[in-house]
Amino acid sequence: MIKNFTIKRVFQGRLFKGQEIMSEINKFLKENSIKAGLVSGIGAVKKAKIGYYVQDEKRYISHEFNEPMEILSLKGNVSIKDGEPLAHIHVVFSKEDFSCVGGHLYEAEVFAFEFEIVEFEGECFKREFDQETGLFLWRT
Ligand code: ZN
Repeated sequence: MIKNFTIKRVFQGRLFKGQEIMSEINKFLKENSIKAGLVSGIGAVKKAKIGYYVQDEKRYISHEFNEPMEILSLKGNVSIKDGEPLAHIHVVFSKEDFSCVGGHLYEAEVFAFEFEIVEFEGECFKREFDQETGLFLWRT
């Protein structure tokens, strides 16, 4: 299932120390009526909560890392869930010993964060519950 979009607007910005990444991005999407697009970013966090989906059990487990980490890669997409724009973001962090952790991003407290949001023009994907995977996946 593939849709064809064109690029409508491109935003670039930063968040400030203490802000929470997921809530700020989702707030920005709603305020600007962005219904489809890409999110990317790099920077550093004071702490973060990420998830891993246990496929056999159809549930997420989550882990909180209460330590400063670099954001090596943060990327995600924008679609509609329950009538609202929603960013779905995955992330890779590195720790002080250069080891990495990553997963589905629930929340992260910013130390410094620079991001881009690319808004697509076209009919957006909508998320609906998928029985087979237990996830909210894209429909038409
Ligand atoms: Zn995810």
